[in-house]
Amino acid sequence: MKIATYPGTFDPVTNGHIDIIRRGMEIFDRIIVTVARNTTKTTLFSPAERLDLLRKSLSGMTNVEVVSFAGLVVEHAKSVGAVAVLRGLRAVSDFEYEFQMALMNRKLAPEINTVFLMPNEKYTYLNSSIIRSLSEFDADINDFVPKVVADALKKKIMKKQATMKGKK
Ligand code: ADP
Repeated sequence: MKIATYPGTFDPVTNGHIDIIRRGMEIFDRIIVTVARNTTKTTLFSPAERLDLLRKSLSGMTNVEVVSFAGLVVEHAKSVGAVAVLRGLRAVSDFEYEFQMALMNRKLAPEINTVFLMPNEKYTYLNSSIIRSLSEFDADINDFVPKVVADALKKKIMKKQATMKGKK
């Protein structure tokens, strides 16, 4: 049984992430999607919300599990019996950071390999931060995220805007 972890912030999950998971499923027997709780990024969604949106978005897929973790990616990978860490590469701009992470992770745990997969071209310019910005301006994001995510974003942005109005 070959297991891979797919760690990330997923704030929120997009169709680009899901594309990588689908491709990963063709190589691995099981994928453990791992939501980072201790990210240095300021997130719009809480860890519990990010986990819930991933679970709902991936509910039709078998052999995919969603968990959260705080700590080193390789320690988590070892604890779940994974042989690989899955990451997505969209463009050259992703490369430098990913390359550093992969080599550092190899130094920490030589038995765990990082596997990079490229998404369908239509997702190469997609990231969670663009999706968050688009939804602030009420743009149509239905081609880029599952419906549950689009709905959750709408609710979250409305709540944020109402709080800001209240503060004025
Ligand atoms: P992180 O904060 O770890 O980069 P992200 O949620 O932004 O978390 O991304 C998790 C992984 O998914 C990263 O490897 C990232 O490069 C990849 N990824 C993000 N968006 C896409 C996309 N549109 N297509 C392919 N891979 C993606």
